[in-house]
Order: sequence, then C-alpha cells, then structure tokens
Amino acid sequence: MFVVMITPELAPVAKVGGLGDVVFGLSRELELRGNAVEIILPKYNNMRYDHIWGLTKTYENLMVPWYGGAITTSVWFGFVHGRKCFFIEPHSADNFFNRGAYYGQNDDVLRFAFFCRAAMEFLFKTGKQPDVIHCHDWQTALVPVLLWEMYQHLGMKHPRVCFTVHNFRHQGTTGEPVLRATGLNRPEHFFHYDRLRDNANPQALNLMKGGIVYSNFVTTVSPRHSWEAKDAGQGHGLEPTLHTHQHKYGGVLNGLDYEQFNPETDPYIPAHYHAGAIGKKYDNKRALRQRFWLAENEKPIVAFIGRLDAQKGLEQVRHAIFYALNHQAQFVLLGNSPERGINDHFLGLKQHLNDSPDCHLEIGYHEELAHLIYAGADLLVVPSRYEPCGLTQMIALRYGTVPIVRSVGGLSDTVFDKDFSNRPLHERNGYVFEHADNAGLESALHRAIRCYYDFPDHFRHLMLNGMHCDYSWNHPGQHYLNIYDYIRDK
Ligand code: ADP
Repeated sequence: MFVVMITPELAPVAKVGGLGDVVFGLSRELELRGNAVEIILPKYNNMRYDHIWGLTKTYENLMVPWYGGAITTSVWFGFVHGRKCFFIEPHSADNFFNRGAYYGQNDDVLRFAFFCRAAMEFLFKTGKQPDVIHCHDWQTALVPVLLWEMYQHLGMKHPRVCFTVHNFRHQGTTGEPVLRATGLNRPEHFFHYDRLRDNANPQALNLMKGGIVYSNFVTTVSPRHSWEAKDAGQGHGLEPTLHTHQHKYGGVLNGLDYEQFNPETDPYIPAHYHAGAIGKKYDNKRALRQRFWLAENEKPIVAFIGRLDAQKGLEQVRHAIFYALNHQAQFVLLGNSPERGINDHFLGLKQHLNDSPDCHLEIGYHEELAHLIYAGADLLVVPSRYEPCGLTQMIALRYGTVPIVRSVGGLSDTVFDKDFSNRPLHERNGYVFEHADNAGLESALHRAIRCYYDFPDHFRHLMLNGMHCDYSWNHPGQHYLNIYDYIRDK
C-alpha cells in the first residue's frame, strides 16, 4: 500500500510529545512490512535539521489558494533516519512556520489550516494518489474535509483517510474565517451539527469534529481510552460525535520504536544491558547520579519524564518528589511546559531542593538525557489525570525501570499491578493506583519503595517481566494495516 502521513510532528526532527514518536515508529514499521510511506510536515525553522539528510527543494512555486489569492510555497524533500519526508515552506508575511515554536501561537488554527490545504494541493499537483492518507490530531483534521468536499471533485477519488486522535483536549475550535481562508467557504453548509459545528458552542467550528465526521476510520491511541473518550466523559464534548460514528471508531495501542529505545544498543547510555544480563543497568544509575551530582547510596531513584501539563497530574508529581525524599528514595525529574507559570513553579521547587543530595529537577527538553534517566532510574511515576496512551511507561518497561501509574487510558492497558492484578504473576510489571490524589499515589509508591528494600528478588522479577513485554510496533503495525486494508478503495 501507498500511505501518506500528514502530521504536525515527527520524531526526532519536530517532536513535542508522543505524537512525533508514533508517526515515526508507525511509518518505519509500515515500510519494514513492504509498504511505501511518505510523510508531509511543515518546514519549521526550529526543527532539528541535524537529523535531516539530503534536504533539497523538490517543488517550487506551488500556488496554495488562500483567502481568494494564493501563497507561493516551496516543498522540500529529505530523509529523516530513512523516512521519506516532504516539508512545506510557505513564502508569505505570515511566516506560519518560522516562529521558533511548534504550537502556542495566536493563529495556530490558520497556520495548520494552511498546512492542510498546502499538503492536499501538493498531493494533487504532483498526481499522488495514495491508498491511505493518515492524519494526526486537530492540526491535520481539515485534510479529510478538503478531500471529500473539494479534491475528490477535482479527481482525487482513490485515497481514503484514517484519522488518529492523540489527545481529545485540543480540538481546534475556531470561527468562520478558516472557511474563507481555505476556500471551503459555504458557512451554512459547514456550520451544521452533522458536520463541523461545535457540539457545545453553535457559533464555533470544531476542526477535530470535522476530522471525525469526514474520515473513513478514526482511531485513538489505546483501547481503554477509546472507551473513556466515547463513554466515560473524556471526549471533551465530542462524545455524541463519537457515538454517531462508532461504526468507524476504535483504539489501537501505540507501539514503541524498539530500535530507538533499546538498552542493548542505545547510543545515549554509557552501559548496555538486556534482560539476560541486567547488572550493567547499575552503571547507568551511577552515571545518572554523576550527571546530576546525586549522592551514591543504596536508595532507589524515582523518576518523572514528561510535559509539565495539568494532564500529567502535576500535583501528584510534586507530591511524589517530597514523598520519595522522605522515604529513603532519590528523585529525578525531566520536563518542561510552554506555560511560563508552570516552569517557574518547578524552577522554584528546584531552588528549594537545591541542597538535597537526593534530588535533581531538570526543567527543559533533552532527548539524550531522557534515555539516561530511563536506563538509570529504578522507578518511574506517571500519575496522569488522563492519558490517551502514554509512552513513558512503555519506555521504562523496556529499560527495566518499574512504572508506577494511575489506572487510566493506555497506562491501564500496559501496566499490571504486582499485588492486585488479575494477570498471571509473570505478566505483572509495575504498580497501579486508582484515585487521582496524593493518597492514591502514596498507596503505590509506598509499596514500590518497600518492595525495593524488603524483597529485592521480587523487585528484580518485576523489572524482568517489564523487559519481556512486547510493546513494539509489531502488533499495532498489523492492526493499522488491517484498518487501511478495510477502508481502501479496492
Ligand atoms: P505526551 O504525548 O502526552 O507528551 P507520551 O508519554 O505519549 O506523552 O510521550 C512523551 C514522549 O516525549 C516520550 O518519548 C518522552 O520520553 C518524551 N519527553 C517528554 N518530555 C520530555 C523532555 N522534557 N525531555 C525529553 N523527552 C521528553
């Protein structure tokens, strides 16, 4: 099959969170299975250009219709670790993708609406007719709308669209101008409840809703979260839409790129190890301590890695730091937020704990350092309020670091409690708690720290059970292929 991914993120060149990892990992898996995959993304000025090979301009003067005129656009081609990528570069005073940041701009809706129109125009002008266009999150949700309302009438009749929702919270709610900008026009048509009209606000258009309505198949990133979003109040207002379209909706657990996250070969960690010889993990623990000036002692290292967003249960992250330090454990945090206030809060905490030999908080984004923490830590806390899938717990499992997670979304599809799971013993791989509060977190963190000290053999088994899990792209890759095959024009 010929698959085109249209995406706002791609690891490692333009990554904010798990979406970027997923698009890279899935594309790689699809290619390994003999499919042709091309990826289209914006040409951001703040990308990691050192991860792009052979970047060349491949299409000049693509005239992308915009507000009754057109924006002259260049399309660049380059390889990102073997993946074929096209980068969209508009030439206009708007400077849509030269902002030094991926998201968080006042005109995000227009930036990505332009991206959708440009990606479709590029496919159309180059005569590409992929079997499947796979879009990701609200930023690319206009692609199926443009395909079925505009481009199929121009002759693009073959492609079908799969739309993956990575996070229901951000939906791209906006007003009428986006219709004029993209040339979709006809507000009376699109402001219809069955199309793009927001379910809560009749004056607003909801791009993610459009993506759901117009796609041939909609997925979210774990089976548990697909149910939570549709039936358990986590759809952020899109519940009725998901119900209407439930015949083409399902959850596919994200995979993890087992090449990129592999303790046997990881170039970012000083000592390599595997489930058969786990001893070297402790060399990484030593290296992590040296890197962060932590004391060398018998204590376990508890870690948190992730975006500092309310979604991640920041109050419980904070509580975990103090609980760990008061209960004979060390704590390491790596994270950042686009919101200044949140960063400042954690920077204040960092200052407050500056003299502790058992704690280091690193406020920032650092891919290589993340690998060292996954390899060097003993425990990883993920106290999320909601978590569509979550990759950090899967990476931790791969590195023999025992996850402590809240029972929500993909976390509860991947982590099974040592003491209270109904799974067989050899499948239990971590600690799980129910309630999104400090008491809930303590109930699990306490058991984990006590197990580390009092039952080291049990703890070792947990580590190994985690390392033996298969959360690679093997299963989800096949799952997506089944979906593509189901929807494609045969
Ligand atoms: P989300 O998509 O909600 O951000 P996920 O758990 O699905 O959360 O994916 C997070 C990914 O981003 C993981 O690969 C994690 O290691 C990485 N990550 C998050 N924050 C940082 C950071 N500050 N530095 C390095 N990597 C990070």
